[in-house]
Amino acid sequence: MHYLSTRGDNTPRKFCDILLEGLAPDGGLYMPAHYPQIDAARLRALREVYRTQGYAVLAFELLSLYIDDIPAPDLRRLCEKTYTPEVFGTRAITPLKKLEDGFYLEELSNGPTLAFKDMAMQLLGNLFEYELARRGEALNILGATSGDTGSAAEYAMRGKRGIRVFMLSPHGRMSPFQQAQMFSLQDANIHNLAIEGVFDDCQDIVKAVSNDLDFKRRYRIGTVNSINWARLLAQVVYYFAGYFQATQAEGEKVSFAVPSGNFGNVCAGHVARMMGLPIDRLVVATNENDVLDEFLRTGVYRVRASRDTHETSSPSMDISKASNFERFIFDLLGRDGARVKALFQDALAQHGQFDLSADPAFAEVRERYGFVSGKSTHADRLATICDVHARFGITIDPHTADGVRVAREYVQPGVPMIVLETALPIKFAATIREALGHEPERPARFEGIENLPRRVQVLPADVQRVKDYIAQHCDS
Ligand SMILES: *Cc1c(COP(=O)(O)O)cnc(C)c1O
Repeated sequence: MHYLSTRGDNTPRKFCDILLEGLAPDGGLYMPAHYPQIDAARLRALREVYRTQGYAVLAFELLSLYIDDIPAPDLRRLCEKTYTPEVFGTRAITPLKKLEDGFYLEELSNGPTLAFKDMAMQLLGNLFEYELARRGEALNILGATSGDTGSAAEYAMRGKRGIRVFMLSPHGRMSPFQQAQMFSLQDANIHNLAIEGVFDDCQDIVKAVSNDLDFKRRYRIGTVNSINWARLLAQVVYYFAGYFQATQAEGEKVSFAVPSGNFGNVCAGHVARMMGLPIDRLVVATNENDVLDEFLRTGVYRVRASRDTHETSSPSMDISKASNFERFIFDLLGRDGARVKALFQDALAQHGQFDLSADPAFAEVRERYGFVSGKSTHADRLATICDVHARFGITIDPHTADGVRVAREYVQPGVPMIVLETALPIKFAATIREALGHEPERPARFEGIENLPRRVQVLPADVQRVKDYIAQHCDS
């Protein structure tokens, strides 16, 4: 398998060439040259693999289709080391929880930081450590987080040899629990940088630093943001696992509803669907920051300015542009890199938007690719948390509530709907208190986490200041 850029750079690269990189040199995102096809017989075989050998081996089988530059026994060992009941809490790794007939939650949040990002990041930590050791190299990971990515990355990379993490987060905007999770890490290889701005400012700084190729090379900068292909690939696995749990046989279809921000999670669903997994609809749920819902309804992709990005009670979805969205547009436009470049580099820079409403491709978004969408507000979130608690005795987090809220608009008889549970409620206790009037359950290992000593540096939203900090803390 080779990888190419969404903006037309067709230099053939292998998986391990792009594993440690962020954006492609032309500013695009890496994509596989094609999607390996899973026919009905192969799907049946994978169902059997999952049933008899479990999630880790299913992951190995699927990853093998995209990774041919790590020896199979090594890749299998990395998957088996990652997806264990000890790390993810259950043997099933991503069990389905039935709310009612044909309506499920897929639990993706039982990992170390209680959000679905652990699903990919734990694998990434092991892949990075493996590949760096193989090359005898070191890497400085630069990332931006609105909460969940940062802690997932830090818990995946802490103490790993050859790896340092510099994680930017919007100062004062994460929940107290999220801040405590990240800032209480005392590992010497973990650096928390709280930036005076919103998440998109953090993301812009990461992009600016990564686009400075000299700096990037000199300080061996890598990334673990959701644009990393390996993360996306790891997420493809739980769409298969969810499908196998909700169905009995290969003819059946399911739909997935995905609380969405940067379009990473649901893009993995798109990849699974392109491989032939029988997914009927991919339901994109947004919060008040409805960039994606707007595009999927109207064909206009309009990024927002920082000041127009709402601070909501599902903060991990507070984005003004969706960094993985370019991957889907690449497929939608027949993999025309020049056109993608014109839209994402030129049109967005000049006009802050592009409009595909008149393009015949736009009709295919729904008809051929199965995407539908909806938006959920603070009031919807609270009502959904209350309703699910009252009817099923289950407490869901605010992001998952956005997914449940929007999923309900698209339930069809005979097609199971699987809502991806993207975090546990304890991460967002204030909203749970507001909805239910009591505290969410706290796993014992997180007792008193808010009172631990903290390691964090506050910096202005300034690219140079961040570069200076990195330079001072690297032995280049
Ligand atoms: C990151 C995150 C999301 C959004 O996922 P994307 O891949 O950015 O679309 C939703 N919910 C939670 C809890 C998250 O951490």
